[in-house]
Amino acid sequence: AGRHSKSYSVTLIPGDGIGPEIISVAKDVLVLTGCLEGIKYEFNEVLMGGAALDATGVPLPDLTLSTAKQSHAVLLGAVGGYKWDNNPKSLKPETGLLQLRKELGVFANLRPATVYPPLVDASTLKTHVAHGVDLMLIRELTGGIYFGQPRGFGTYENGEEFAFNTEIYATHEIDRIAHFAFKIAQKRRGKLCSIDKANVLEASMLWRKRFLAIAQEYPDVELSHMYVDNASMQLIRDPKQFDTVVTNNIFGDILSDEASMVTGSIGMLPSASLADLGPGVFEPIHGSAPDIAGQDKANPFATVLSAAMLLRYGLGEEKAAERIENAVLDTLNRGFRTVDIYSPGTKLVGCKQLGEEIMKSVESNV
Ligand code: ATP
Ligand code: MG
Repeated sequence: AGRHSKSYSVTLIPGDGIGPEIISVAKDVLVLTGCLEGIKYEFNEVLMGGAALDATGVPLPDLTLSTAKQSHAVLLGAVGGYKWDNNPKSLKPETGLLQLRKELGVFANLRPATVYPPLVDASTLKTHVAHGVDLMLIRELTGGIYFGQPRGFGTYENGEEFAFNTEIYATHEIDRIAHFAFKIAQKRRGKLCSIDKANVLEASMLWRKRFLAIAQEYPDVELSHMYVDNASMQLIRDPKQFDTVVTNNIFGDILSDEASMVTGSIGMLPSASLADLGPGVFEPIHGSAPDIAGQDKANPFATVLSAAMLLRYGLGEEKAAERIENAVLDTLNRGFRTVDIYSPGTKLVGCKQLGEEIMKSVESNV
């Protein structure tokens, strides 16, 4: 351990499908990096999703929630699988994850979209992948049209059915995500693009007004605004123009999937969901991949990069986070690939062996 050894409690939720395989690699990488950077962990492994349903009958057991709430951060694999696909909504693995996010109050969802140069020319990746993309998309996660009241179905007097939802944002909800986004932009390249539909929607007009007001407190950040229709085009046309991007819940839902595609591989992308106070949830953006579970084929990079986000945004351990990110790049540069990112001329390995190679890179720290 280093000079000022710090200790953190981390909740591990392997979940279902490939979850246990990728979490095992990420845990090993965290431990080794911690040894080298003077950080200690107390890991608590708990059940959620399908694994929890099978063992306890509910997707989010009380023990899992209380463990998560008492920890500094939660590292999650993935939940779900064919086995539970026909369960009623309250007994779906994914419901456990939604409940966990709600209970922890994680209102900001961060998804970096980064292109790794060693992967750009790989034949398995799509042609739209562009060198130099390195953006952070921040999605407001607990407000907007997905939660707005009133909502529902109705019937007009003439018998015709209708349905409606409400896009609603209060000032405090906008201010909270705005401050959050400005702070992230400060730590990155100092550019923040807020995406809205302020030419049409009142909720977006208030959103834009609050961002303009709060910008006064962050003179070192260059704020710009873009309409969501234009943004969806610009993300494909020239994704390199973006540094930090922030948007509401529904636009973020759509744009985050779009942004991930400009990087080419689902197995490479991490995410963080953060609260004002209390632990965040760190997880790969991909699902539980039941089609390859238990076969040692899963790409662990996204989960390892989620562990790096846990260090940076969850624990404030920037140096250790960078060490892991550098190790990921070094492992790619040394040619190691799982099957989803394999191309001729590179070295095909399984999940476990890739983990070993990542650890060598963490150790050599080039
Ligand atoms: P969800 O609905 O839970 O978000 P999904 O069912 O849409 O997920 P995934 O579980 O992410 O989809 O799987 C989509 C495809 O990508 C599958 O063929 C899966 O094998 C593959 N895949 C996902 N994650 C990885 C990974 N880490 N390594 C290799 N392949 C993966
Ligand atoms: Mg799925």
